Amino acid sequence: MASWAEQLERELAGRGLAVASVPGKGRGLVATRSFFPGEVIICQEPYASTPNKISVGSTCDHCFASGKMKKCSGCQLACYCGSGCQKEEWKLHQPECQAISALTEDRKKMLTPTIRLMVRLILRRKRQIEKAIPSSATDNYDLVDALESHIAKVDDKQLVLYAQMANLVQLILPSVQLDIKEIAHTFSKFACNAHTICDPELRPLGTGLFPVISIINHSCVPNAVLLFEGQTAYVRALEPLSNNTEVSISYIETAATTMKRQNDLKQYFFSCKCPRCIKDSEEDALLEGYICKDRKCDGILLPDTGKKAYTCQKCGICRDGEEVKNVSSQILLLSDKASSLLSSGNNSEAGSVYKVIEQLEQKLYHSSSIPLLHTREKLLKICMELQDWQTALMYCRLTIPVYERVYPPFHPMTGLQFYTCGKLEWLLEYTEDALKSLTRAADVLQITHGTKSQFMKELLGRLEEARAEVSFKQSSR
Ligand SMILES: [Zn+2]
Ligand SMILES: [Zn+2]
Ligand SMILES: [Zn+2]
Ligand SMILES: [Zn+2]
Repeated sequence: MASWAEQLERELAGRGLAVASVPGKGRGLVATRSFFPGEVIICQEPYASTPNKISVGSTCDHCFASGKMKKCSGCQLACYCGSGCQKEEWKLHQPECQAISALTEDRKKMLTPTIRLMVRLILRRKRQIEKAIPSSATDNYDLVDALESHIAKVDDKQLVLYAQMANLVQLILPSVQLDIKEIAHTFSKFACNAHTICDPELRPLGTGLFPVISIINHSCVPNAVLLFEGQTAYVRALEPLSNNTEVSISYIETAATTMKRQNDLKQYFFSCKCPRCIKDSEEDALLEGYICKDRKCDGILLPDTGKKAYTCQKCGICRDGEEVKNVSSQILLLSDKASSLLSSGNNSEAGSVYKVIEQLEQKLYHSSSIPLLHTREKLLKICMELQDWQTALMYCRLTIPVYERVYPPFHPMTGLQFYTCGKLEWLLEYTEDALKSLTRAADVLQITHGTKSQFMKELLGRLEEARAEVSFKQSSR
């Protein structure tokens, strides 16, 4: 029989894909045929996964649905949306259930998502060796084995932590003889390979290890996007891919300056050499950039040496470094205040402080800058919580041009923001605006999310409704 590696190669070839060594990056996934925008390049079930909120118990262990769950009567920890999902999980959960049931309450509290992910990974491997759970070319431990751990680059403090975590896993699974060093290495693999499983609106639900998806490398200008339906990972093309193109997704939030992105990528132990990262700093100056003193000028300001002044690259007018520093420190002070108000649940007061911050930031920053964008995103969220739809819509509309500027043409964030905009406009009975926004949302999200999920059916349903309402209004005029 062919080895798992050969079987994987054959299976990928059937889909028009190959694993290749990419200069400077190690392994990578390469298209061996063309893919159209929105086409599923690859999908995979996780080798191991766990919801993040284990103790809250609001996510189904099997399908990652949210809501009211039924707890496993054995361990009182695993949660399911119904008996169907419980049955599907039983072959894996049975040994886990036994292990958890034997734990003291204090030890149970130590089952963080990462620890539980490891427990489930070890048990799945064991069950596959016992043939209680079938294996396949895309579902076997060899794939986990082949993942990069970057263990040589991990610092000593972190190594000690991994070893402690491995010992804890051994305490939870006394019946399985573990190689502590190997488990510590696998924790290191989690750090640079595990994926956050999100719902269609990109809210995190859990963590999963998808060893075939992990072959795909990062780019800050990716040509594909990774999203989830339940806990199944889907990678879809964002643009036409031609034969021999490397498939890339983004591991991080890409609406950020190069320095921020490089910093966020540190945990993956590589420095990105994508077109955005090697380009000159003009885009960065815009993203964190200060606005020209002349309000009619949209030039970008760059600091002089020593940051004593900032000069507009378009009209040459200077902004005083002291003035910039002053406003910045005011913003910083208020931001601390606002975020502590927000974390104590005081939405309405936090909203007022963020509005002052927004005013100050408008004095300082370019309209496309990231700090201003983030403040407006916060204000949008707060206004939604407070059901102040009109103000929410205003902030939502202000964020969209920035999204369109910083993200590629088809990006889930842009699509979702158009969707929010459309829902708010519909609620406020701006029916024609709602139709426009929902149409834009559908255009983008059909590429990033496909068309078949419940989430997309709902969006397409709303779009139909808006279309009917607009044509009714037009005909009755
Ligand atoms: Zn379920
Ligand atoms: Zn159980
Ligand atoms: Zn990059
Ligand atoms: Zn200027």
